[in-house]
Amino acid sequence: MNMQFSPTVVDEYVNATEGYYTLMRILHLGPHTVRVRVHREVELEPCFAAAEVLSADMAWTLLVTHHPECWFDRTATPFKHINVKSELEQLADGLMQRVQDILVKAIAIPEHVLDVVGAMLAMAYGSTGEHVITPDDVKWAKANGGPFRAIDRRDGSVLLTKAHRCDCPLLASEGDDPCDGKCQAAAQAAGGDPSRN
Ligand SMILES: [Zn+2]
Repeated sequence: MNMQFSPTVVDEYVNATEGYYTLMRILHLGPHTVRVRVHREVELEPCFAAAEVLSADMAWTLLVTHHPECWFDRTATPFKHINVKSELEQLADGLMQRVQDILVKAIAIPEHVLDVVGAMLAMAYGSTGEHVITPDDVKWAKANGGPFRAIDRRDGSVLLTKAHRCDCPLLASEGDDPCDGKCQAAAQAAGGDPSRN
């Protein structure tokens, strides 16, 4: 599974007058639409730098801000022909990076799954275990054995399995019904684990 989402710019707007300059950028990040705005005026007070995410009810929801006190002195006083991008782009990129850190982690791996995968790694490789999964490993695992399923069970445990075929009653019922026993026979016929070096 690829956890990397790269933001794609879908709209950008810059404007400058004697009184202010502003940069607005809309980006797609995985399933999210993000709006980044950086606004610089002559005075510090009305300046702002913020990133918002479009919610399901089509409202912009504030996600991160960068207080103008931190960047006001590093940006030029407004004038009409200022290069808005060279003044504000770095701030916009910084906001976007923070958005990415928050959203990508949230989209990609729910905390519950991280906990379970972390436990499985620790069981397999020790409490300070480390293991690299290559794209070939992923390809091989998808092509062999049953589909990967993580099934939450009533006693609070989680069953991680590739031991059952798609239409096994165990997978179809999310763990409520037992395996009908045909999966193991099929696995043995397929030859089990590969020789890997
Ligand atoms: Zn089964």
